[in-house]
Order: sequence, then C-alpha cells, then structure tokens
Amino acid sequence: MKNKSIHIIGAGLVGSLWAYLLKQKGFDVHVFEKRSDPRKTAADRGRSINLIVTSRGLDGLKKAGLIDSILPTTVPVYGRLMHALDGATQYQAYGRNNSECNYAVSRGDLNKTLIQKCADIGVTFHFEHDLVDTDLQTKTLSFANGIQSKFEHAFATDGAGSVIRKKLHALSPNTFKEDVSFISSDYKELYLPANSNGEPVLEKNNLHIWPRGTHMLMALANTDNSFTLTLYLPRSNHAWSFESIKTKERVQALFKSEFQDVIPLVPELETQFLENPQGSLGTVRFSQWHFEDAIALMGDAAHAIVPFFGQGMNCGFEDVTILLEILETNSWDFKKALPLYSEARIKNANAIAEMALENFVEMSAKVGDQNFLLQKKIESILEKEFPTEYRSRYGMITYTLIPYAKAQEAGLIQAQLLADIAKHTPRIEDLDLSFCHRQMQREWIPWLRKQGIQLDRYLV
Ligand SMILES: Cc1cc2nc3c(=O)[nH]c(=O)nc-3n(C[C@H](O)[C@H](O)[C@H](O)COP(=O)(O)OP(=O)(O)OC[C@H]3O[C@@H](n4cnc5c(N)ncnc54)[C@H](O)[C@@H]3O)c2cc1C
Repeated sequence: MKNKSIHIIGAGLVGSLWAYLLKQKGFDVHVFEKRSDPRKTAADRGRSINLIVTSRGLDGLKKAGLIDSILPTTVPVYGRLMHALDGATQYQAYGRNNSECNYAVSRGDLNKTLIQKCADIGVTFHFEHDLVDTDLQTKTLSFANGIQSKFEHAFATDGAGSVIRKKLHALSPNTFKEDVSFISSDYKELYLPANSNGEPVLEKNNLHIWPRGTHMLMALANTDNSFTLTLYLPRSNHAWSFESIKTKERVQALFKSEFQDVIPLVPELETQFLENPQGSLGTVRFSQWHFEDAIALMGDAAHAIVPFFGQGMNCGFEDVTILLEILETNSWDFKKALPLYSEARIKNANAIAEMALENFVEMSAKVGDQNFLLQKKIESILEKEFPTEYRSRYGMITYTLIPYAKAQEAGLIQAQLLADIAKHTPRIEDLDLSFCHRQMQREWIPWLRKQGIQLDRYLV
C-alpha cells in the first residue's frame, strides 16, 4: 500500500479525519479543498458553529489516536436546561451516570486541529482547489483554477452540496437517486461573551434551550467561557420569522416577547441579528455511496442531516471508522469493500436523518410539555434501575455504537412502553418498579434479546 495515492475532496471534519487515518496506513494522501487554508484565516463572524461530539465521533478520534489532543479543547455538557417564558428553568441530565456527557467543540477549531495533525504526518493539502467537474471515464478531477488531477481512488467529503454526488446523480439518476429537502426553519448564530471577570454568564456545562414551539434558542459554551447562541426560526409565514424581522425594533420585540432573560447578556443584539448570516437546514439522502472501486462518498456529501440530534459529524466520523474496518477486513480490496460500505451505512444514515427531523419537534415544543417531561423522568429511572435491560434511544445514539437503525427501532417500542407507564403513573413519586419491569417484559426485553443487543457491550 505504501505510496499508493488517494485523493480526498474536501478538507472539512470528515475529510481531514479520513486523510489522517489513511496516511497512518501508509497511503500517499492528497486533500483538495476549495477554501484557503483555515489555519491562516480568521473565522467568519456568526459562523462559529459549536458541535456536540458523542460516542461515534469519540470512537473515530480514538481510532486515529487523536482523542487526547481534542478532548482538552472541548467543554463537557452533562444535561439540558430548559428556560421557560417566565424565566423558570428545568434540568434534564443526559447520561445515566456522571461520566456520561457530550463534548462541545468549535467546528472551526476542531477542523484546524485535524488539518494540522494531518500536515504533521505528511498529508498533502491543495487549498484553493474548487472541484468543478469529474470525468468518471478517465478518472480525472478538474478544478476551477484550471488544474486537473488523475486519481485511482477518490473520496468525496465535499459537504452537503457535493459536486461528485451531483455528477453521479447526473450519470445515472436511477442508480444514484438523490433526495434533497430543506425544513422551513433557518438558523442564525449570536455571540454571548463571558462577563467582565471572564466568567460564563450561563451554567457552562449545560446545553441551554429556550423552547417556544415553532422556534427555539440554544446556547452552548466555548472553552473561553463565551457561548454560541443558535436561533432557529421559521423563514416566513409566522408571526416570528426571519422574513418578518428586518428592523432593530422587531429584533427587540422578538427577544422581549420570547427570550427576555437573554437580552441583557448579548451585546449589540440587534446588530448581530441583522448582520449575521442566515443558514438553511436540510437533509440529503443518496441511494448509493460508491462508484465502482473508484469513488466513495462520506460525511455530509452522502447524508447531510438537520442538527437537532447533534449527529451530523458524529455520523460522518462513523462512516470513517466503518469504512476503515470494511477495507481492512477485505485486505484493502476497494472493489469488494465499497459496495459493502454503501450497504452498511445507508440504512443507518437514513435512520438518523429521520430521528434528527423528529427531534426538532422534541426540542422546540415537547421539552415544555408536562407529559413528555414525566415520560423522560420515568425513562431516566428505568435506565438507572435496570442498566442491563434499558437504555433510552437518546442514550443508544449518543453513548453507544449501536447502529442508528437499531436505535430507531428500539425508540418505537420505548415510546409505547413509556406512554403505558406514564398513563398508569401520573405522579413520578408513585412509580412502581415491578410494574415497570412487567411492562418491559411484554415487548421491550424480548425485542432486545431477539436483536442480541447487550446494552453494556457497546459502551465506547
Ligand atoms: C447549526 C449546526 C449545528 C450542528 N451541530 C452538530 C453537532 O452538534 N454535532 C454533530 O455531529 N454535527 C453537527 N452539525 C453537522 C456538522 O457540522 C456536519 O455534519 C459536519 O460539518 C460535516 O462534515 P463534512 O466534513 O462531511 O462536511 P463539511 O464540514 O461541510 O466540509 C466539507 C468541506 O468540503 C469543502 N468543499 C465543498 N465543496 C468543495 C469543492 N467543490 N471542491 C473542494 N472542496 C469543497 C468545503 O469547503 C469544506 O471544507 C451541525 C451543523 C449545523 C449547521
């Protein structure tokens, strides 16, 4: 394998991690990126994006031997704190014990670290190389700067708008079915600095949510004690929508009505809102992720999803670990491995795409609903009392490597189980554990056994 050349298009998170692993395996890795080198340029204002890294992302970083470099640049997040309209707050722990948490990290910083780590071991980066076309017959990449490059194996990690994905779709729309859809909400980031003593103005180790039905605000801490706020709002056709808020007065009105407690914390709130870029949120589904032994798609290029499960990058890092495993098991025979990779990943990516869409409703509307909160409390007790027999869908996705599609199936059975227990137990103080266990034995435990899922075996 030594010196066999690999081309990767896109030096984002997934492309950089994949480049790092392939270089470690002895390949001559070339990464082509349309942007200039992010290590030399300042981040765009209002585009910082704070990501949650969870089990699948951690697993990818561990397999690359990078976890010890990355974890110190993250902020552990142990639960979510809901902020009601009247300013009251309610806390929900994420994990079932204190060691389970999510890790918030700046996307830009993580990307720069990964690129630097790649450069340290000899990956070659070609910045300002904007891929505009791919000739699949002659295996040639063409860039906007006029440069062409021939490849033997290329990996498309060029994000949701992937040029290679579009090329494959154009080549054979039936084999390479593409489905791209956008939700009716957009997002905007706002910056919330630390106070004058450098201390955080919100509890640092929580994800803060202001759920308001059709819209919501979220805050995640940065390592310097500032926060990135993300506001999700309908694009149009709502009393509070991006289209209906175009003046400073309207921005004030929105925050006074919906997020009053945030106003004193955000400097230049109106200017930030009016000037920061508005991003759209979509889902990309693609029916085949490889072309012969020549090309595979990974990360958002293959499966962009909405961010409400915090799994886009995590799923992309899992593409990396699974493809590596399949290639190694098949002695690096790309012809055998790439179809197996497509088959293994597509059903799981489609599952997390669907669950991420559902989670928007959970985060923006249901977290304020009393019956939903009761069910969450019951679930958290079941996880603690029956650790080998119960794991929430959220826990499976966030803290284990149980495939997304299995977690989705589990979630359907759990929803019925929790609804049944909640109906029988309107007050959490009256929860009867033996009743709960009897209910679990009806459908849930037989399903777990049938699947052969041992809940403690998948911990990262
Ligand atoms: C608001 C928001 C919050 C999110 N929160 C989370 C979270 O909490 N957890 C999580 O796991 N995920 C989260 N995500 C998703 C996550 O950001 C993406 O899944 C992840 O960045 C995908 O990585 P990627 O490398 O596949 O694609 P990208 O990060 O999009 O990288 C693609 C790269 O390819 C380059 N490129 C594009 N076109 C070309 C071309 N023609 N030629 C050459 N290069 C090209 C781009 O410049 C870029 O560098 C969030 C996303 C958003 C929008």
